[in-house]
Amino acid sequence: MILFNDFASEPDSLRAAEVAAFERVARSGWYVLGPEVKKFESDWAVASGAAYAVGVANGMDAIEIGLRALGVGPGDEVITTPMTAFASVLGIVRAGATPVLADIEPATALLDPDSVRRCITRRTRAIMPVHLYGQLRNMDRLSELAAECGGYLVEDCAQAHGASLDGRRAGTFGAWGAFSFYPTKNLGALGDAGSLNTELQEVATAASVLRNYGQSERYHHPVLGLNSRLDEVQAALLSERLPYLAIFTERRRDIAEAYYAGIDSAGVRLLARPVERSSHVYHLFAVASAERDRLQQHLAARGVQTLIHYPVPVHCQPPCADVARDPAGLDAAERHAAECLSLPCHPQMSDAEIETVITAVNDFV
Ligand SMILES: *Cc1c(COP(=O)(O)O)cnc(C)c1O
Repeated sequence: MILFNDFASEPDSLRAAEVAAFERVARSGWYVLGPEVKKFESDWAVASGAAYAVGVANGMDAIEIGLRALGVGPGDEVITTPMTAFASVLGIVRAGATPVLADIEPATALLDPDSVRRCITRRTRAIMPVHLYGQLRNMDRLSELAAECGGYLVEDCAQAHGASLDGRRAGTFGAWGAFSFYPTKNLGALGDAGSLNTELQEVATAASVLRNYGQSERYHHPVLGLNSRLDEVQAALLSERLPYLAIFTERRRDIAEAYYAGIDSAGVRLLARPVERSSHVYHLFAVASAERDRLQQHLAARGVQTLIHYPVPVHCQPPCADVARDPAGLDAAERHAAECLSLPCHPQMSDAEIETVITAVNDFV
């Protein structure tokens, strides 16, 4: 079976470093917001090209905290995509703001700037593209739209660790970038973790207050915050995993190149290639098919595990039935949800496994 993710076959050197990191923390006697968190925040800021990285409990909290740090909340609208992890929108709702959903571009499944423009109102305070599957695109246009409406550009970078476009890194285009280190992400902890990256010192300061009950100094609470602290064990594990990120990302890109070169089946559509090699980190490699479910069964029968990202767009989830959206509709997102299928694209895949996936896809008729 070719697994969708295969953490058990990660390098022994990495596993040994993780075990040593755990022992280091266990013996240190300091378990929450300590030296390991400080070290990871500073290493991660350097690695991701950010001025500041604030460790938080998960990616969804990073979005909530980021919006609250900018003063975006009740009465404010945040434009984002319905083709994303539900957490993107839940983070907006948790901040007290109102999500507004714009449609996607069919060729990439990323936010469509024309649709974003139709969603802008007097209450728009932020535009939040999601770098779905690991890809940066259209950032100039989205920045312009945010500037035109006087709102912030903010980025959901949960799938895009290390991606860059025109030499600019994911998370540095606007006021902040929210990262998740959920285990399956390109940089993952062995549990939940996240980071709010920003170029703005005041945002970093506000976020570090918000993540810890709104506490500015011990027992002083100028704002109502939340408990969204990063713990020492996850930070130490992330520090050990960080040096592997660049190597793993290159492997993901090679797998994707092989898929683009090798997949040629009338029943399967590839998404548009990225504008630069650096602009996609292939957290996921999605294809589309009018017969998606049959394709998935066909691949399973050939020993290839696949997943769907995402089968139900946000506006089709029961609690979001009345969510505000592009008056022209969200047809492209609905169609993508019905047709997309993610192929295995993890760094532990062997060349033989890549060939097996390509052959299995090409045998689909
Ligand atoms: C994983 C993910 C999140 C949420 O991150 P958590 O750490 O699970 O809270 C948000 N947005 C996107 C696009 C994601 O893939």
